[in-house]
Amino acid sequence: MMDSMFYDDDDGRICHQCGGSVGKDGYTNDVGEYYFCSFECFSNYMNETYGEGNWRECKDENEAGGFYEYFENGEWHPDDTFWTEWEDE
Ligand SMILES: [Zn+2]
Repeated sequence: MMDSMFYDDDDGRICHQCGGSVGKDGYTNDVGEYYFCSFECFSNYMNETYGEGNWRECKDENEAGGFYEYFENGEWHPDDTFWTEWEDE
């Protein structure tokens, strides 16, 4: 059994931010392009991508299918990221 933190485990979900394995719940986006193991990793990524204070949670699902939005060019735009739980098989 390999024990590298970058080892692709059975679930195949690796945190985009810390490289750790993502458990039964975490953050992802609409197309499953990336995963985050915790809100901490997710918010670090968002801060790096959009800047601190330039993104926020929204109450309802937005047009992009997510629950977050980011601020750019004077407007809020829907981000397709959301928190989810994955079923065991
Ligand atoms: Zn992480």
